[in-house]
Amino acid sequence: MTYLNMQCRGCGETKVRQFLDLGDQPHCNRLIPPEMADKREPHFPLHVGFCETCTMVQIDYTIPKEDMFSNYPYVSGTTKTLTAHFKETAERLAKTYGLNADSLVVDIGSNDGTWLKQYQPLGIKVHGVEPAANVVELALSDGVPTTCKFFNKETAAEVREKYGPASLVTAAGVFFHLEELHSVIEGVKLLLKDDGVFVVQAIYLGGMVDNIAFDQVYHEHLVYYTLNSIESLFARHGLEVFDASLVPIHGGSIEVHVAPKGQRPVKDSVVMMRHTEAKKGYGRLETYEAFAANVWQLRDDLLALLRKYNEAGKSVYAFGAPAKGATLLNSFGIGPDLVAFATERNPIKVGRLMPGSRIPIIDEKGQRPDAFLVLAWNFIDEFVARETAYLEAGGEFIVPVPKLRVIGRDKT
Ligand SMILES: [Zn+2]
Repeated sequence: MTYLNMQCRGCGETKVRQFLDLGDQPHCNRLIPPEMADKREPHFPLHVGFCETCTMVQIDYTIPKEDMFSNYPYVSGTTKTLTAHFKETAERLAKTYGLNADSLVVDIGSNDGTWLKQYQPLGIKVHGVEPAANVVELALSDGVPTTCKFFNKETAAEVREKYGPASLVTAAGVFFHLEELHSVIEGVKLLLKDDGVFVVQAIYLGGMVDNIAFDQVYHEHLVYYTLNSIESLFARHGLEVFDASLVPIHGGSIEVHVAPKGQRPVKDSVVMMRHTEAKKGYGRLETYEAFAANVWQLRDDLLALLRKYNEAGKSVYAFGAPAKGATLLNSFGIGPDLVAFATERNPIKVGRLMPGSRIPIIDEKGQRPDAFLVLAWNFIDEFVARETAYLEAGGEFIVPVPKLRVIGRDKT
């Protein structure tokens, strides 16, 4: 067991113990164009550690944010599940905090504006902050006012100056991306009205541990939160989590509501989640060592299964080419010998190769291998509903997470 050569991203101390070494991996969202097929792309370390001081789980290596997020291939409007989730959340938050025509909602990492758009029919003013110019264009053309910058203290000051203070600041699917974590939090404090609220949704580390969902680890995700570690982080900035819940999006996320310390009563939901986390040992290194052992067991089981298909002469393709798929394939050493192709409906991805594993991405239309390896396992229900004909005809889904299983006509 070694300490990572870093300062904790949350508390600044240097006691971050490595518990999972996923080796050197390429940037998971950087798909390889065919003309680059014979060149090896840059690889970066992917080590996961646990801070013995504040319990924050994190990776050590930071690919500069300008390289990762200035042009972003992920557009949130394209998945049905996410759009429905955003609508539900917007309506719920508007009701809980009595938002109206005088209220401003600012979303950090607003992507194509899919979430903010849900507030507009309610008459609420919105503003997005998003660094990727390609998706900002989509947001603007869709009528969602957006500042094309990285959110930090300076950007927050600029937004407040131009548009006024915010009743609600949100960060969904972005709060673990932040290289300038502390400047972002100071920016949120600056931007909020006196009685304003900050709502964060982030992938939940507790869910990752319970489901062996280690494929959520990639270079874009710098930190992995429990309630405990996110509370310590906010406490350093005079903020307090007063409401907490788990939401089923992204394979299991945590939602926390945050305000200046002492301003709002801390709800039972927070007390109960603290209790559950203590019972499950999410604040202890041993829990993460056991998690790592589970990851390597999953590798052995999945490789054995794929080799069985291979030896029987059965074809296996990857169903989709998501970022988290790259982590799983590269960590386990799965290449085109075991998984011949990855199928996609996103035209930007088709014709390219997956980073690292170099599995070619092809159009999903009409592809009927003997089995699909489902990399975006968090959308499995949507896929099963969509592909009933394929499954009825004898096709199979191999689902690695949360538990390795095969779904097919004769299997569930
Ligand atoms: Zn720490």
